[in-house]
Amino acid sequence: MKREEVFNFSAGPSVLPYDVLASAGAEILNYNGSGMSVMEMSHRSSFFQEIFDSTKAKLKAALGVPDTHEILFLQGGASLQFSMVPLNLMGEDGTADYAVTGNFSTVAMKEAKKYGHVNIACSSEDENHTYIPQQEALKLTNGAKYFYYCANNTIYGTAWNYVPRTDAPLVCDMSSEILSRRVDVSKYGLIFAGAQKNMAPAGVTVVIIDKRLAGHELPITPLMLSYKTMIDKDSMYNTPPCWCIYVLGKTLDWLKGQGGVAGMEAIKHEKAAMVYDFIDNSKRYKGCARPEARSDMNITFRTGDADLDAAFAKEAQANGLMNLKGHRSAGGLRASLYNAQPMEGVQALVKFMEKFEAEHHV
Ligand SMILES: *Cc1c(COP(=O)(O)O)cnc(C)c1O
Repeated sequence: MKREEVFNFSAGPSVLPYDVLASAGAEILNYNGSGMSVMEMSHRSSFFQEIFDSTKAKLKAALGVPDTHEILFLQGGASLQFSMVPLNLMGEDGTADYAVTGNFSTVAMKEAKKYGHVNIACSSEDENHTYIPQQEALKLTNGAKYFYYCANNTIYGTAWNYVPRTDAPLVCDMSSEILSRRVDVSKYGLIFAGAQKNMAPAGVTVVIIDKRLAGHELPITPLMLSYKTMIDKDSMYNTPPCWCIYVLGKTLDWLKGQGGVAGMEAIKHEKAAMVYDFIDNSKRYKGCARPEARSDMNITFRTGDADLDAAFAKEAQANGLMNLKGHRSAGGLRASLYNAQPMEGVQALVKFMEKFEAEHHV
């Protein structure tokens, strides 16, 4: 298929802005008159240092990161943060509160148990992670080292519509919603996000950490998994994921052209509302998440029949609407409408849903 014939609804790695790919492609053999690709140059070169510094500055501006916080570009995916967070923040004999609202927070919670005490502050498992517990339902620990939650549950299609209130530093996995909504970074002790949903190719993980939280890691913490190591060396203790950082810089330029994070927030809401409105007015489709907990990034839905779900995904694929099959652990269907998903993609999806419904009456 030609790129022009395809809309990609993959949950991750996901669609990147066309202009970002085109621009990176144009520079792939010779970056800015260096005679080298960004993939080939020393991470200590002035060419790369400029890419690194400007990407960091653009991210700082886009999210309004205060000077109390440091931005790190790490590797190991969002999943390595499931270990890094407790190793660095739990302390000896510490307790952390975990909100369990999906697959990734479950994995993170289990990982944290290896390093300290975990209190389950809330869990939505009783209803197959179709909702987000409200503030009043959170069971908080006095003196907890941190409160952990996952802002957008990529697999189940739910999102927190509030910032939890707690005395402990907030730690948040924002992998699948970063740069799609405004966030008051000063409220957080640590934010992390894998790049491959809303930012760049897989390979870089953004960590935004309140510097006061670093330097208290458990003695067993590997050197490479210490936030302090990476803060002291500005993410370059070893070779950073250069290419991904470079592409992230381009994505941030593109984001600025969309009105920045605030502009994106309005656009993403409009895109998601188109699909949810259609689902709510349809007899065939049913959204999986409770309406008040719906994610604008990952829309999970069903036709009411597993075989028909499979037929939907297959037929959609034949029509250029790619990767609409739900995650293997959740089933059903899922349309990911990340920042780079164009409005035309959403319109094409709704049109296809309409046609499919007409051909498969309830
Ligand atoms: C994709 C995702 C992860 C896992 O990311 P990796 O980079 O593959 O480790 C973790 N959390 C959330 C919310 C995600 O969407």
